[in-house]
Amino acid sequence: MADIIQLLPDHVANQIAAGEVVQRPASVVKELLENAIDAGADAIKLIIKDGGKALIQVVDNGSGMSATDARLSFERHATSKIKNADDLFRLTTKGFRGEALASIAAIAHVELLTKTEADELGVQLKIEGSKLVAQEVTVTPKGTSFCVKNLFFNIPARRNFLKSNQVEFRHITDEFHRVALAHPNIQFHFYNNGSELFNLPKANYRQRIVGVFGAKTNEKLVPVAEETQVVKISGFISKPEFSKKSRGEQFFFVNDRFIKSPYLHHAVVSAFEGLIRSDNHPGYFLYLSIDPASIDINIHPTKTEIKFDDEHTLYAILRSAIKHALGQFNVIPALDFEQDQNLETPYAYQNKQADVPKVVVDADFNPFAKDIPRSKSIPYFEKQTTIGWQNLYVGLESKVGKEADFSSVSFESESISGSIFEDDNLMIDSVTTTFQLKRKYIVTTIKSGMIIIDQSRAHQRVLYESFLKNITIKEAVSQQLLFPLSLSFSKSEIAIILEIKDSLVTLGFAFEAVEDEHIAISGVPLLVPESEVGIVLDQLISDFQMDVPGDSFSQSDIVSKTLSKSLSVKTGEQLDSESQAALVNNLFACKEYKISPFNKPIYITITGDDIDKKFY
Ligand code: ADP
Ligand code: MG
Repeated sequence: MADIIQLLPDHVANQIAAGEVVQRPASVVKELLENAIDAGADAIKLIIKDGGKALIQVVDNGSGMSATDARLSFERHATSKIKNADDLFRLTTKGFRGEALASIAAIAHVELLTKTEADELGVQLKIEGSKLVAQEVTVTPKGTSFCVKNLFFNIPARRNFLKSNQVEFRHITDEFHRVALAHPNIQFHFYNNGSELFNLPKANYRQRIVGVFGAKTNEKLVPVAEETQVVKISGFISKPEFSKKSRGEQFFFVNDRFIKSPYLHHAVVSAFEGLIRSDNHPGYFLYLSIDPASIDINIHPTKTEIKFDDEHTLYAILRSAIKHALGQFNVIPALDFEQDQNLETPYAYQNKQADVPKVVVDADFNPFAKDIPRSKSIPYFEKQTTIGWQNLYVGLESKVGKEADFSSVSFESESISGSIFEDDNLMIDSVTTTFQLKRKYIVTTIKSGMIIIDQSRAHQRVLYESFLKNITIKEAVSQQLLFPLSLSFSKSEIAIILEIKDSLVTLGFAFEAVEDEHIAISGVPLLVPESEVGIVLDQLISDFQMDVPGDSFSQSDIVSKTLSKSLSVKTGEQLDSESQAALVNNLFACKEYKISPFNKPIYITITGDDIDKKFY
């Protein structure tokens, strides 16, 4: 048989490599910003149009390149940063693989302008799909400007795979945040579609974090500092009370490089254990300096995952550094931080957790007693008890609700029956005795046997439908606040709020002002307690973080879902019998009472026959 193996032409090899290096516009942004930093720039400009699909430009005042280097920089494995394999263990630069420019040039239209200090004139290069189409001598300041246009012009499948401009823009913003936070000593400008989004002067770490995430961040930060032979840790964690529903502000930097590490993340989270609600996330900005010889960065093309020689020790040191910081900040009594941290294993603290919230067990609870205990929700987590159960009644009448005022929206009990009786088997017995099982389920009898309802899902459904109803009738009942509520957000969070503002207004939110980093709310939907507004908006921002759908219906739908999730009673909350009955009745008044807004079954039924069979 004839020989069949051949070497791939360079431009094909480059396109293949591009598949790994360039996933989306944000990858190009990352590579170009990192090159600018490696070139020693102290001022960098990022310019984006249409989510990076139309234009990505990075301008730096770094070393620049000679004409020959400029040409060579687009070759694969062309790098000025390492010379031999040993250098891989002494890396102090972001790049070293020499494949970013070759990859980008293989799948886009690239324009490069560059000049070194020594040269009088600079050079301009144009490359399209790996082909050099122009080279000219030109007047340009010292430094480099890369323009990347028409990304994936020659790979339609990849181009079609790109998300909306907003989504791509958000990915770019994330990359920008990471690079800007790692290098406070560099000035950054970021322009999006012609308007300036960030102007970050040279600063220290704290100022840079505040510059990126807004003035409100300052009061949240607790400094962390620890120096051992293995690692130097500095940076900040957010105070426990500022922990968030969204995972947004969590950053590890190792030797000035943003990295992802689920393992180290776990170390941080475990140091917060008992101090924050389990569904909340602590914020952190942690900078680790480690001997480059003890880490391996070259395990992934994007270099966001790295391998540490001694992960266990790092874990222990990090965890104790965070605990120490929290202790100094007086959140928890300082424990035994004086120990030699090098000796600690990650498990050393296992038996020392004191602050785990206790679930109160009601030992007297007897489901067969005639009079079921009437206590409302037992304090479990403070926040949760403030979610008024009373809100469930607003506008929705219950059979047993005596004192609620239903004048605003009256509920016709016939229509409850309507939906219950449609399905004969679900007919709730006229005796509305209900009881709560494991603070999670509500059990009651129906004609055919018994029904077990998941309280949280049922409440989600009730809230969800009432929010949707508000949206469709477009005259949501809004509750005017006596004093407008002022809340702070970062710029990118404000951008999300602006995008979903109309949907929020239809639901009953009233905005007095939306500014650069603040919003003032003068009205909230009737079902949303004032104390929950901040939490609810956090959750909304987190749910929309990756994508804000353009059409208002999908937006409203997501908003309604988020609100119903945030405001519903949770598993673990004790409900008195009135609340239980009201929930059951309100559930069966819903259009769709079988599945929760998140497509989970709300209840199960057990027929008399099923029970009989069990007794055989
Ligand atoms: P790497 O960064 O891994 O070396 P790249 O493909 O990103 O590979 O860049 C190739 C080379 O081009 C770099 O090693 C550097 O010498 C040069 N280069 C790239 N961008 C710049 C820039 N903004 N300023 C000066 N030189 C640059
Ligand atoms: Mg590079």
